[in-house]
Amino acid sequence: PPYTPDPHRYDGRMGYNRSGRSGLLLPQISLGLWHNFGDNGNYENMRQILRTAFDAGITLFDVANNYGPHYGAAEKNLGKLLKEDFSHHRDELIITTKAGWDMWPGPYGDLGSRKYLMASLDQSLKRLGLDYVDIFYHHRPDPDTPLEETMTALADIVRQGKALYVGISSYGSRDTVKAANMLREMHVPFVINQVSYSIFERWVERDGLLETAENNGIGITAFSPLAQGLLTNRYLNGIPADSRIGRDPRYINKSALTDERLAQIRALNGMAEQRGQTLAEMAIAWLLSHKQVTSVLVGASRPSQVLDDVKSLRNIEFSAEELAKIDEISGV
Ligand code: NDP
Repeated sequence: PPYTPDPHRYDGRMGYNRSGRSGLLLPQISLGLWHNFGDNGNYENMRQILRTAFDAGITLFDVANNYGPHYGAAEKNLGKLLKEDFSHHRDELIITTKAGWDMWPGPYGDLGSRKYLMASLDQSLKRLGLDYVDIFYHHRPDPDTPLEETMTALADIVRQGKALYVGISSYGSRDTVKAANMLREMHVPFVINQVSYSIFERWVERDGLLETAENNGIGITAFSPLAQGLLTNRYLNGIPADSRIGRDPRYINKSALTDERLAQIRALNGMAEQRGQTLAEMAIAWLLSHKQVTSVLVGASRPSQVLDDVKSLRNIEFSAEELAKIDEISGV
């Protein structure tokens, strides 16, 4: 049957945060399609995940050129589902994609050249079946391409109407400031830095990136907020066959589950229980308790996880004692 979105989806369960000092509001929770949307995924499950997310007020779907397997597959599946289920809702959606990691063979399918970014976005738009994306990201810093070349490519992409806003991903403070200055001079709407950030992954704190983002008027999106599933109840009693570590160990495998890690997970799970939350809910709430975090970009292998993740919004307040205990448990 055709999809009719929940008429109550904007009734206040989901909040929308301003991305830096831009005009763009992003949902507190966004959905990423890095896993579970490739050629090996179940198409009806993908459909139900997207519908569940949109019904919950999640207006941002995030992909990259090479999400799969195989490279390009997640964009293709998203494009098909956008056409089948969301064609009347394009203007309610923020669709984001990226280029910067390996995509096609040879010298022009990786890193940060103008040649790569321009060609990659054209390919992405074809796979997505869209005329433009809402945010186009440079996916990682490239130390060998002049930053000016990469940023000018982003600027020209906006001028060509192929992206409304631009972002960067995994850029540290120093390059973020340089990028912000260049893009400001070119009057390009630069709105976000997408970075790995969770209770277990704190490089952005050590780098001072939260303050840098705030001072430069841009937002922060936290990717892998659940540390790919570690910060959930998934691995409390072994490795389920249908979990990411059990089923798709391309980017995380059982070596991540050391005794020390499991002890941390159990201690954090106990804290979450005391707060009346699941560990996943607490891990997302913890990120949103930082005022510089605009959106928390979760992944999900099934619709029920999306619903659980959204429940985190019921309580994103932490006492100073709780925050200190989370730091202590996670060894910060
Ligand atoms: P998460 O840390 O949110 O991990 C998602 C996984 O956690 C799910 O697939 C599921 O694993 C498990 N999970 C989610 N919710 C629950 C729940 N409520 N209870 C139990 N388990 C749960 O994020 P990802 O690593 O998937 O990254 C999210 C997005 O961030 C990506 O899709 C992508 O868009 C972006 N990203 C960007 C990068 C960049 O370089 N810019 C790099 C990496 C990610 P299971 O399969 O075991 O059920």
